[in-house]
Amino acid sequence: MEMPLPPPVAQALKLLEEGGYAAYAVGGCVRDRLLHREPNDWDIATEALPGQMMAVFSDTARIIPTGLPHGTLTLLMGDMPIEATTFRIDGRYTDCRRPDSVAFTRDIAWDLARRDYTVNAMAYSPCRGFADPLGGWEDLKNRRLRCVGEPQERFREDALRILRGVRFCAQLGFAVEGRTEEAIFACSPLLQRVSAERLAAETERLIGAPQAAEALRRFWRVLQVFLPELPGAGGKAPECTLSAIRRLPGELERRPLAQRQKMALFWAALLAHTSGDGGAVSGAQHADAALRRLHMDNETRETAVFLIESLSRPAPWGAPAVGRQLAEMGKERFFLLLSLQSAFFSGEPDRLRELREAEGQALALLEKKTPLCVRELALDGQALSALGIPAGPQMGRLLRELLARVLDGECENSREALQTQALRLWKG
Ligand code: ATP
Ligand code: MG
Repeated sequence: MEMPLPPPVAQALKLLEEGGYAAYAVGGCVRDRLLHREPNDWDIATEALPGQMMAVFSDTARIIPTGLPHGTLTLLMGDMPIEATTFRIDGRYTDCRRPDSVAFTRDIAWDLARRDYTVNAMAYSPCRGFADPLGGWEDLKNRRLRCVGEPQERFREDALRILRGVRFCAQLGFAVEGRTEEAIFACSPLLQRVSAERLAAETERLIGAPQAAEALRRFWRVLQVFLPELPGAGGKAPECTLSAIRRLPGELERRPLAQRQKMALFWAALLAHTSGDGGAVSGAQHADAALRRLHMDNETRETAVFLIESLSRPAPWGAPAVGRQLAEMGKERFFLLLSLQSAFFSGEPDRLRELREAEGQALALLEKKTPLCVRELALDGQALSALGIPAGPQMGRLLRELLARVLDGECENSREALQTQALRLWKG
């Protein structure tokens, strides 16, 4: 069977073969292509040593020495980055993360044997065909995630593989083979030794994946190891959290978001009910602590915490209230909160209708470029003084009243209209 490859990858493989070195596309990109998914990145494995790769690509690619000690170079062929790694056998692991040493080999079978799951341990070359000594294709057809080798041993080498496994279930909707699943639960305490950054990155890919809710339901206990704030005695995930996570992607289709905003929304959904019985404030504090521990960037953390704090806020009703809330939160947070609330309250038709109405009103206000705060009115305090209205709290009240009229559509946001309205309100 032939598998189409992007031209830069095919070209890189061809150049290596012409240099006399066996070379394959390998790992996740082969898995994804067989599943008709767009690969996240492209990896090549080759017999060529790093120095030999550099010689092969000296004229045709920009070479970035990303992981030379482990035999990895990044090739920039045109705009496309390709990770190329010499076939390798990993040495002993003493830190649950990286092998103490690696040895290069000329046999692809050894290279495939160091990989985490069988579906990630296939290679393909246009001239050599598929290399699949571990039965990855069979597992892929059966939609089954199975460790290469002895699962517990593989998880003790690098505990992140446990969370990668849960993430693959969430992304691919695969079931986990029995012994692999047992090992996931048995070895999950080892996740405490994985770095915050790796845990955070993997968790983000998990919670944003299409089948996240099913994977979370099954492996909630595994996440509780490094997120002890998560509720759920006996490893049982709260149904409201799962259903919100299931609904968020649909909400996001309504309004495309930047990646960090999207992640803030998913973190907020995951961590919204951290306090159990303590109420929203302490729940937000728990979420804040969890996200700090995962070294989350400030903006994502602050947005997620804000969303959790505001989750139970009623939807604003009427243009002035919607305008005030837009001005207070900023439009990005305003719409993020509506999305999160819609995901959590989708089972309450009345509430959902209120949320949709607030959304419609907000969009209309933004469309009309309506002023959202007193500062944005076409008339200021000085202009009111000129009309003989004294400065002070009464003037503040008057300005807010004018804003409410503009938001309600009763008064145009022009100097003349506001002056007339101001005098009428002042005298009346
Ligand atoms: P994706 O790119 O969608 O995140 P992937 O499986 O391709 O998934 P990568 O991080 O791109 O993951 O790694 C490429 C390949 O390297 C994997 O398919 C797997 O064969 C191997 N690999 C990655 N991480 C590990 C690990 N922690 N342990 C063993 N093998 C790994
Ligand atoms: Mg990949």
